[in-house]
Order: sequence, then structure tokens, then C-alpha cells
Amino acid sequence: MLKSSFISPASSAQPASSTSLAQASLVTFCASLAVVFALAVSLSLYFAHGLDRTEQAQGQSLIQKSIEAERRLLQLTIKDYSFWGEAYRHLHLKVDMEWAFVRENFGPALYDDFGYEAAFVIGPSGRSVYAVIEGRYETLAAAQWLGRSVDEWVAEARALADDEKVFTTLTSLAGTPALVVAAAITPSTDPTVQADDRPPSVMLVVNRLDPRRLEELGANMGLRGVRLGQADDPAFAHAELTGEHGTHFDLQWDATRPGRQMIIVVLPLIILAALIIFGMTWVMLRRNTRAARALDSSHELLRTSQAALTLSESRFRDVAEASSDWIWEADCEGRLTYLSDRFEAVTGLDKAQWLGTSLDQLVDLPDGTLLDRLRSNVGQSNLVTECSYVDKHLQQRTARIAARTSGTQGFRGTATDVTEEIEARRRVEYLSRHDVLTGLPNRSQLRDYLESRLENALAACQPLVMLTIDLDRFKPVNDLLGHATGDLVLHEIGARIRQCVRSQDIVARVGGDEFVMVVSGMVGHQEIEALCRRLIDLIEQVIDVDEQEIHVSASIGIAVSPGDAAHAPELLRYSDIALYEAKASGRGTWRFYDGDMNARIVERRRLEGDLRYAIKHGELRLEYQPRFRIADGRMVGAEALVRWQHPQRGLLAPDAFIPIAEEVGLITAVGEWVMDAACRQASQWPETLFVSVNVSSREFQSGQLVERVKAALQRSGLAANRLELEVTESVMLEDADNALILMRSLKALGVRLTMDDFGTGYSSLSYLRSFPFDGLKIDRSFVSRLGESQTDLAIIEAVIGLGRALSLTVTAEGVETLEHLKLLDSVACDEGQGYYLSRPLEGASFDALLLSISLPTG
Ligand code: C2E
Ligand code: CA
Ligand code: CA
Repeated sequence: MLKSSFISPASSAQPASSTSLAQASLVTFCASLAVVFALAVSLSLYFAHGLDRTEQAQGQSLIQKSIEAERRLLQLTIKDYSFWGEAYRHLHLKVDMEWAFVRENFGPALYDDFGYEAAFVIGPSGRSVYAVIEGRYETLAAAQWLGRSVDEWVAEARALADDEKVFTTLTSLAGTPALVVAAAITPSTDPTVQADDRPPSVMLVVNRLDPRRLEELGANMGLRGVRLGQADDPAFAHAELTGEHGTHFDLQWDATRPGRQMIIVVLPLIILAALIIFGMTWVMLRRNTRAARALDSSHELLRTSQAALTLSESRFRDVAEASSDWIWEADCEGRLTYLSDRFEAVTGLDKAQWLGTSLDQLVDLPDGTLLDRLRSNVGQSNLVTECSYVDKHLQQRTARIAARTSGTQGFRGTATDVTEEIEARRRVEYLSRHDVLTGLPNRSQLRDYLESRLENALAACQPLVMLTIDLDRFKPVNDLLGHATGDLVLHEIGARIRQCVRSQDIVARVGGDEFVMVVSGMVGHQEIEALCRRLIDLIEQVIDVDEQEIHVSASIGIAVSPGDAAHAPELLRYSDIALYEAKASGRGTWRFYDGDMNARIVERRRLEGDLRYAIKHGELRLEYQPRFRIADGRMVGAEALVRWQHPQRGLLAPDAFIPIAEEVGLITAVGEWVMDAACRQASQWPETLFVSVNVSSREFQSGQLVERVKAALQRSGLAANRLELEVTESVMLEDADNALILMRSLKALGVRLTMDDFGTGYSSLSYLRSFPFDGLKIDRSFVSRLGESQTDLAIIEAVIGLGRALSLTVTAEGVETLEHLKLLDSVACDEGQGYYLSRPLEGASFDALLLSISLPTG
């Protein structure tokens, strides 16, 4: 099985390959063959050479023998003539021509029969007394014919005479070898001849071995072409003859050289045999090598596959142990036959206990059993499915099983515990569809819900109502009480809104403090309004967080499908527009979307375009509303209020375009223009008057406010202390830290800062304390109620007390009646501004006013 056959790694000493063995034996065999053939060749050469040598030696001895025979013949012949009484008588005692030549006793026969070229008789005095040359009688001296002295030979012959011996020698006659016989003429044993006492005469016979004679001699011995020649000519056999005084004659003849002939015949045969044998060997060995190679590659293959198997098994073991998965095998009955070690580590279950039990007992499929699935999957690709199982702690967990059928043997596969993964996936899915803070569905779930509901609702002709709920003044909660509190409030409100919907409806949180509710089945406006009322009442109920009572309200925009829109994005947009209207009309209320709202929005768009144009083309105007010191009624300054001289709509109040300018980012351009115009205008006023300019909180956020103020002052030449900036609480609510930095910088320029509309917002007293204000303006809503309620007077009185404590100038806005003025005077309010005192005036009217009134002196 899986764990079983781990093949031991191949031994480190690699056996020689068959190919190299075959190659080695080929080399050895060829080498031995070569040695054998070389031996055969050298032996043949050796024998041939020996044969040739023997042949040569034989030839030599034959030629020598033949010369020797020639010499003996000459010797014997002459001996017969010389040791002969007749010869003594006819050639020594007297030279008898008749006897010797005519009767041919020592005459032409020597030449004719024996071929001896010359025969001389040297007399006792050493003089040649008789000569026959080539068969003819001549009177020629021996020395003359021979070309040399013969005395030596004569002496030798005489010395040998007593022993009846003759002297023979081999000499050279003009380069031709010649056998010479010299024999003293003695009477020998002939009693008839009386020897005289003179030195005996000597017979001298010359047998010249001329070429013809040499050839004859050789032929007699079976040697062809014997002649004189060079001893070192290797083409011929040769012999050396030694003559008198060490004279050498080199003879040569046409040798048969049997060794050489043998070589000529045998060597090609040997070479041929060698070639045939080598060729056959080569073919054979090549075949062997091929076979050996095949053997080698199969060995190699075996080795590689063994190594691969070892590697794959160790890899399997590593993977099985290192992976977080466990590996299992089951037989065809589905009984577990193998479980990897990781099984215990992952599941905590006992491996031994589970081996042998059915796979289906271990894992559970939501539909059917794993074995059924596996059996129906036979022949197809891997089966991957998620199953549940129960671990050691009896906790249900999820495993992803990847399995395949292994032939007829059963099944095998891996199991991955994906419990955490699935949990995480669920969590991610949940998070991607829910708002974490409130647990409500988020925008994406809302969109999906809307799309499916709208389709169904349309099909069922069932109206769908969308409510966009936005909290009023929630931001200060966050800013003043901290985000943790803000979160708790949102959570609580989410829960309260949730109470108002049925299970098939949905409430989603789609923004910071914005919720969307979609309800179905409501038909009449009354029903929807009742829901809105209930929602607002619920939201407005006090929220207790850390012993603090928090009040929040909400505005609601309503759009209905299919009446208003049939598609989700439109429906969302329309309920948003309705919300905007609800907020604009005083908050804490609701509005149904109607077509005019859209028209109003289009209108706002147009206004936005017009405003851009207006800023550039001087359609903005400033009016100035004077501010008076209540104690003595003198003017102290004036507030610059912007107007827009619209070409079609006439003079527009700031409320009609400032919010738009703030929304679309045109406020800085407006602010810059106002600042410049106001400073320029005020620089023409008496020095005791200041000008007060409203600064939007958006301008605070946009940066460069300080630079712009500085530049306006510089351009107009207005003293900084004659410029007052009015800011609302929202400046501090939005970004307190940045606001503080900016205000300090503005104060450093020397300008005055006043808090506008005091009392309408949170009016946190801490702002007044920690921000560098010079004054505050009590909102006209308090002033307008003066006389109606005592509370408002009490509030104004308290604010004045506070202002005094903080050394702030307190101004009351909206002084519309004398009564207002008197009441304010009674509580010692510093300054007043309002229609009763003066309406905002355009430039010329304001200048006229300046001329007509008395001004405070300081
Ligand atoms: P605000 O700062 O409270 O300015 C005073 C507003 O009250 C002015 O309205 C003025 O005409 C009005 N008012 C003065 N006396 C009385 C009175 O006795 N009774 C009543 N009912 N109202 C009185 P206006 O000029 O329409 O300005 C409205 C708001 O527009 C201003 O309120 C201010 O917040 C803003 N605003 C005006 N000019 C500018 C400006 O140049 N820049 C910025 N950012 N905002 C401006
Ligand atoms: Ca103001
Ligand atoms: Ca105001």
C-alpha cells in the first residue's frame, strides 16, 4: 500500500555499464588480435628473412665451391704438366716449341679445352721463355701481359717444388678476377731426366674469370646471372671472394629469395585474414555494443525510475506529514484501510479505532452519502465535496474531501479541515453585506434586495415604499461626546428603526447617520406618515449613554415605487431628494418625493452655473447693516451682507445662494469677493467704525483664509482692528483643532472674532472659553421672543453675564422693536443690530446714513 514498498536507495558504487564493458572487451579483443597478427607478420618476415639468408649462404657457398673447383681443376691440370719429366726436358732444359705448341703438349689446348687465357713458362733466370695467349703463340713476357711482376709467384712456386705442390692464387687483372697457377717444372719421379742445378723454370697459367666465365660457373651451380657487382645492392644475392693480399671481389647473382616470395604470397593473406577477422569482430562487437547499450539504457531507466520512485515516495511522505490535510484510503466496500498520521493531529480521533470502519460513518454529506457519490463518480475526474464530521471534542467540523476511485481497489483522497475557512468565509460574506456597527444590512445588500424586490413588486403590482432616514444634528454628538458614544447612539437608533419593520422588510445603514428602510404592502399616505411619525418619535426618545441624556431627531424622505420610480438607483435618489427637502423645511419631519423636487434640484443646478458667472461678472453686491452701542445709541460698525443682483430673478438674499455656494465649493470665491469689497468700503468710513464680515465654516476648511484676510487688508489699507469676522459654531464643530489654529493666526493679524448665531447650536460654553473670541452675537430667535417669554430674557441675561465674565462684547441680533431695545438695555446688553435700528443698506444709503448720524467717539 502507500506506506509499503520504499525501495532502498541505489548503492553508491555504480556498476560499470554494459556499454563500457562491451567497449572495453572490444578494445582488449582487438588489441590481442592486433598482437597476434603483428606476431604472425613479424614471424613470417623473420622466417622469410631466414630463408633468404639461407638461400644467400647456400649461393655463397656454391659460388665459392665452384670457384674453388675451378681453381683445383687448374691446379691439377697444371700439376700434371709441371711435375712431368717430359715437360722438364722440353720446357726447362731447353724450350722445345715443336713439343710444346705444335704437338700441343702445353699449347693451344689449354685455351681451347680449358679456357685458360694465358700460359707462360718463366725460365730459370726469371724471363718469360714461352707464352701462349688465348691459344696463340706469342713472344710476350708474362709481366707485360699481366701488367704486373710475376717474381713473387715464381718464387712461391719454386719453394713448393720439393713437395710437388703448386702455388695458386686469385688475383685481379684490371679489375677482373683471375685464377693464377704457378708451378715449378720438375722431372718428378722420371728417372730418365737429369735435373740441372739451375732454378727450375715455372709454368704460369692464368684462368681469367671474365663475365661469361663467371656466368658459366654460376650456371653450373644453379645460380643465375653471376657477375661482379656491388655488395650492398639488396636486390641481389652476393658473395665475397678474397684473393691475394686481401683483394676482394664482390659477386652478385639474381637471387631467388624464397623468403621474399613467401612474404609476397603470405603477407597479403595474413592481412586479408586480419581484415576479415577485424571486420567480423567489429560487426559482432558493434552488435554487442548496441545490445549492451540497450541493456544499459534499460538499466539506467530502471535506476532512474527507482530513484524517481524513492523521491516520489519521500515526497509523498513529506507532503503527507507537512500538509494540514489528512490522507485516507478505503477499499471498495468503503472501509478505511489507510489514514495518514495527520488524521489524528487534525481530528483528534484515534486512527487505529477508525481503520476498518466505513468512510460514511466518519463523514456526513448534506445530501446522500460520500460512498454513493464516489460510486456514481467512477470514471470521472476527482470528486471534491464538503462533508461534516465530529471531532474528538464532539464538535461538528467541516472537511473538504477530494477523492478519486482507484481502479477496482477502492477509493483514496485527502481531507482538509475547512471549518475555520468556511467560518471566515461566512464572516466575510456577512461583513460584506452588513454594517458592522449596527448589524444592519449595508448598501450592497440593500441594492440586491431592492433589485429583487422591485422585480417581484412590479410583477405583483405591489407598491414598495422607501424611507431615507437621516439623523438631525448627529455630528455634534460624535464631536462633543466622542466616537464611542456616537457609535452607541447609532447602534441604539438602528435597533429602534428595526423595531418598526416586519421581517420581510429591510432596514440598511447606508451612511454615517443615514438609514434606508424599504417596506412593502403600504398603500395610503396616511399609513406611511403614521410609520414616519412612529419612527421619529422612537428616534427622539432620550438615549442614555453613561448617565448622559442624548437627544437626537431625524428627517425622512419618502419615495414610492412604482409611482415615483421603477428602478433602485432612481428610487434611492428620489427618497434622498425628499430627505433634502425635509431637512430644508425644518428637520424632525418627513417629505414625500414629488416631481417639483426634482425640478428644484434642476433649478439649483442652474443657479450654480449662474453663480459662477455672477462672481466673475460683478453681479454680487454688499449691503451694510449698522450695529449700535445700546447704552448711548451710537453706531460702532456695520455687518456686510451679500446680495446677488440676478439678471432674471432680481435681488437674491444670501439664503438663496450661500448654501449652494457652500455645497458646490464656490463659497471661497464668494467669500474672497465679500472680504475685498467690505474692506475696501470700510477703509472709506470714519476710523471709529469697523466692518463685520461673515465667514462660512467651509472657508475655514478650505485653507488660505489667513492669507486672504491679510491680502484684503493690505489691498484696502484697512487697519486690522477695524475688521471683525463672524463665525458660527459649526466652524468649531467640524474641526476644532484646525479652527483653533486658524483663529489664533487671525488674531495674530489683529482682527476681531465674533461668534455668530449664539444659542442656535450646542453653544458649548467651552468653545467660548478656549477659542479667542472678542464677542458673541445672540441669535435673533431669542430676541424676537423677548417680551413673549421671560425665559428668553433670562437666557439673554445669563449670556450677557457669561460674556462679561469672559470679556466678550455681547450683541443682540434682530432688534425689531423699541421694546426689544428697552429690554436689552435693561439687561445691559452691549450692542444691538436689527430692523428697528437700521435695515441693511446698500453702499450709497449707508454713506448717507453715516453723514446724518453722530458717531461714538471711542
Ligand atoms: P446673519 O449673519 O444672521 O445675518 C443677519 C441676517 O438677519 C441678515 O439676513 C439680515 O438682513 C437679517 N436681519 C437683520 N435685522 C433683522 C431683523 O430685525 N429681523 C429679521 N427678521 N432679520 C434681520 P440676510 O442678509 O438675508 O443674511 C442671511 C444670512 O446670510 C446671514 O445671517 C449670514 O449668515 C449669511 N450671509 C450674509 N452675507 C454673507 C456673506 O457675505 N458671507 C457668508 N458666508 N454668509 C453671509
Ligand atoms: Ca452675521
Ligand atoms: Ca446672525
